[in-house]
Amino acid sequence: MASHFDTIALNKHCEMAEQMTVTNALHAARLAKRLDHVGFSDIVKIRNKVIELRASGQAVHAFHGGEPFFATSEAVKQALVQAAVEDKTKYAPSSGIPPLRKAIAEKLKTRNGMQNVSVDDVIVTVGGAHALWVSFQAVLDAGDEVLIFSPYWTPIADMVRAAEAKPIFVPTTEARREGLALTLEKYATTATRALYYNTPQNPSGVVFSREEAETVAAFAQDRDLVVIADEAYEDLVYEGDHVSIASLPGMAERTIATYTFSKSYAMTGWRIGYAVAKEPFMTGLRKLVLYSTNGVTTMVQYAGLAAMQTAGADLVRRRHEYKERRDLLVHGLGDLGFECAMPAGAFYAFPKSTRVHADSREAAAILLDTAHVATIPGVVFGAEGEGHLRFGYATGIEEIRAGLEALRRAL
Ligand code: PLP
Repeated sequence: MASHFDTIALNKHCEMAEQMTVTNALHAARLAKRLDHVGFSDIVKIRNKVIELRASGQAVHAFHGGEPFFATSEAVKQALVQAAVEDKTKYAPSSGIPPLRKAIAEKLKTRNGMQNVSVDDVIVTVGGAHALWVSFQAVLDAGDEVLIFSPYWTPIADMVRAAEAKPIFVPTTEARREGLALTLEKYATTATRALYYNTPQNPSGVVFSREEAETVAAFAQDRDLVVIADEAYEDLVYEGDHVSIASLPGMAERTIATYTFSKSYAMTGWRIGYAVAKEPFMTGLRKLVLYSTNGVTTMVQYAGLAAMQTAGADLVRRRHEYKERRDLLVHGLGDLGFECAMPAGAFYAFPKSTRVHADSREAAAILLDTAHVATIPGVVFGAEGEGHLRFGYATGIEEIRAGLEALRRAL
C-alpha cells in the first residue's frame, strides 16, 4: 500500500510530468515565425456569412464572388473523362504535359505578343495563385520590397509576406493622377526588388494602357527590378487593349508572367494556370513546383488543353456578355446614387461606399442586413480601397436586376 509520502511524491511526479507535457506542447504548438504576418482572407468570412444567411432560408443577392457565371464547357469535361478512360493517369512531367506547354507557348506568341517564347519558358501550375506563389518564392529574399499598385488582390500582400519580403503599396489613383513613373519613384527604395503588375485589375477593373505599361517597363529596367505580371483577366477587357508587359522590348528577361484558366474558361475549381519566364527564374519555378505539387493533375492538364483548343469564339461572346452585365450594374448603381468609375476590364465594379457609409465594412454590413446584397468592403483590398465596395458582376442578368431592385427598396 502506498504511504502518504509516496502519494505526495507520486502527485508531485504527476504534476511535473503534466507540466512538462504542457511546456512541451506549448513549444511544439506554434507556427513557423514567417507565417506570423501572413493573414487569412477576409473574403472567406463574408462568404461564410452568406452561406449562413442562405442556410437560414434567406435570399442573398450575391455580388461578393469572383467566379464566372457560366459552367465549364462540355468539351473540357469530356477531355477530362477521355484522359481518364485512356489511362492518362500517371505522373506527368512536373512542369506540364508537352502538348499543353506547346499550346500555351503558341498562344503567348500569337495573343500576348511574346515573340521569343519557347516551350521551355512555360510551366503549368495549380491555378494562377500557385503561379504567383512560386514566382514570389523564386525571386524574393528576406527584407526585399515589392511595389504593388493598390487597391490590390488581397492574397498578394500575404504571398509577399510569406516570402519574408515587404509589400509596398502604390496608390493607383495617385499614380494615374501624378504620373506612374513619378509615383513609383516616390515609393521605391534601395530594397525594392520586384513590382507586381496586375492588369486588368482586381478589384478596381482598371486596365493599364500600352503607354502605362511602357512607363512601368522603363521604370523596372531603370531600377533593375523583376516584374511579376498577373494577367488573370486578360480576356476580359472592354475598353482599350490588354498589353502583356513581358512583350515590351527588354522585358521578357525580367518578367515572370502568370495566367489562369479560372476566369477565361470558367475553370476555377479545376486549379490550373501557368507561368512564363526566362532563366534563371524558370529553374526556380521548376524547383518550387516540383516540391510543392509535383505538377498539375494529369487529366486536368488534358482538359486545359481542350479549353485552349475549343474556346475560340466563346471568349469573344463571353466578353460581350460580361460587358452587358457591367453596363447594367454600373448604370444601375449610378441611378441609385453610387459614384462609380466605369471599370475597363475584369468583372468587378468598385463604387464609392459613401452613399451608404464612409467606412466600407459598415457599408457592406448595412447592405447585407437591409438589402441582403453581399459585397466586399473595399478596405479588404488595402487602405487605398477604403470608402469603396466591390460588386462582382460575374452573375446572371436577372440576379443583377434583382440586386439593384433590392438596393432601391432598402436605400
Ligand atoms: N490574380 C487575380 C487578380 C485574381 O483575382 C485571381 C483570382 O481571383 C487570381 C490571380 C488567381 O486565380 P486562380 O488561382 O483561380 O487561378
